[in-house]
Amino acid sequence: MNLTIIGTGYVGLVTGTCFAEAGHKVICVDKDADKVKLLQGGGMPIYEPGLEELVQKNVRAGRLQFTSSTQEGVEKSEVVFIAVPTPPMPDGGVDLSFIEGVSREIAGAMNSYKIIVDKSTVPVKTGEKVAETIKRYCKAKVDFDVVSNPEFLREGFAVDDFMKPDRVVIGVLSQRPVPAMKEIYAPYQAPIIVTDINSAELIKHAANSFLALKISYINAVSVLCELSGANVQEVAQGMGMDARIGRKFLDASLGFGGSCFPKDLSAFIRISESMGYDFGLLKEVQKINAEQMNRFVKKISDTLWVIKGKTLGVLGLAFKQNTDDVRMSPAIDLCQRLQKEGARLRVYDPQAMEKAKAILSDVTYVADMNDVAEGCDALVIATEWPQFKKLDLDKVRKNLAHPIIFDGRNLFDVGEMERLGFLYKSIGRGKA
Ligand code: NAD
Repeated sequence: MNLTIIGTGYVGLVTGTCFAEAGHKVICVDKDADKVKLLQGGGMPIYEPGLEELVQKNVRAGRLQFTSSTQEGVEKSEVVFIAVPTPPMPDGGVDLSFIEGVSREIAGAMNSYKIIVDKSTVPVKTGEKVAETIKRYCKAKVDFDVVSNPEFLREGFAVDDFMKPDRVVIGVLSQRPVPAMKEIYAPYQAPIIVTDINSAELIKHAANSFLALKISYINAVSVLCELSGANVQEVAQGMGMDARIGRKFLDASLGFGGSCFPKDLSAFIRISESMGYDFGLLKEVQKINAEQMNRFVKKISDTLWVIKGKTLGVLGLAFKQNTDDVRMSPAIDLCQRLQKEGARLRVYDPQAMEKAKAILSDVTYVADMNDVAEGCDALVIATEWPQFKKLDLDKVRKNLAHPIIFDGRNLFDVGEMERLGFLYKSIGRGKA
């Protein structure tokens, strides 16, 4: 099928590329002319494992192209996906101006029947508003359908997640677009849930808020583990082997971040409030997450006594492993807090240093993870990159002025680190 994706970011580029890989003919549109030029020239605006090769392959095969013209994209495709940002507003609500703007642009470009599919994460009832807006601004006498098709991919695993989704959710206002939507997703052999548009939109916010809740739950348990001397990893394993619970998202840490969980959680709280329901449970999830970071910073300051004037090495800047995305990254938040306390920082991330430079200044960016600790009073692990598990710990110990490691991701075995001579402070494993 001929498909257009408007918004060529983490979701749009992966979606467009994976649709092309499945045999569809795809146009990716972005209003950022530099990004389009970069992609047209064979460059990549983001790091996502496996994506670059797939983009190149499908461009070569003539199934994937890039443009900054929404008009062109809409005219040439029957199905138009929206994957633009839905950023948070200061009150936690969702800024829907990108969605509204794109709806107007699509309306102005429609030359025949179109299916307009929202992939961005939006509050319940947004699809109805998109349909109203398109109807209002469309001058041509053409018909259209609006569909909600929320995206569940995880950055860092986006290609795999897109190719092998647990399920595909299709929310509709009428049955007319259902066969086309099923055809688009047929190559992925995933279960397809067809539902009403409001339920589809709610599924996404409810799912993300639940995942955030699961993380905060285990983080709260990690506090109890520190108070009692228990080990949160053992507890998580014991809980997670219960099929009703599952082991995923039960890793205690310095808290969740990124461009989705914090924003979607606040949005869901706001959406509930706007409909007259106080979703207090989710406010507690936010509170636990904030406290978890506070507790980690306190762990550092309690150990070092005074942070001011200390040099700290920080491993990890991305909000999680396998990505260059630093939007609302707990690692960046941590760095900024430590700077505020007067620390000098030497930092390293395998992929996120370029993006971090735009928001984290006055730090020394180090090219090799094994050199970060050089001359530092302590080392801090802030992102769970798997390669950090392969740190040259002998070198790190020699490099550090004092062999102290604060691990916000529980990457190492406590006993082993102590045997190697480190004062090793992690999350929820033994007394803090
Ligand atoms: P992003 O910021 O990486 O990409 C959005 C792109 O849209 C940018 O390149 C921007 O230039 C472009 N854009 C903005 N307005 C445009 C317009 N009028 N016309 C054309 N292009 C325009 O954002 P993202 O992370 O891909 O997220 C997009 C949506 O998907 C959000 O609603 C997000 O919540 C949701 N989502 C994100 C993820 C994720 O892991 N990043 C996962 C699932 C859902």
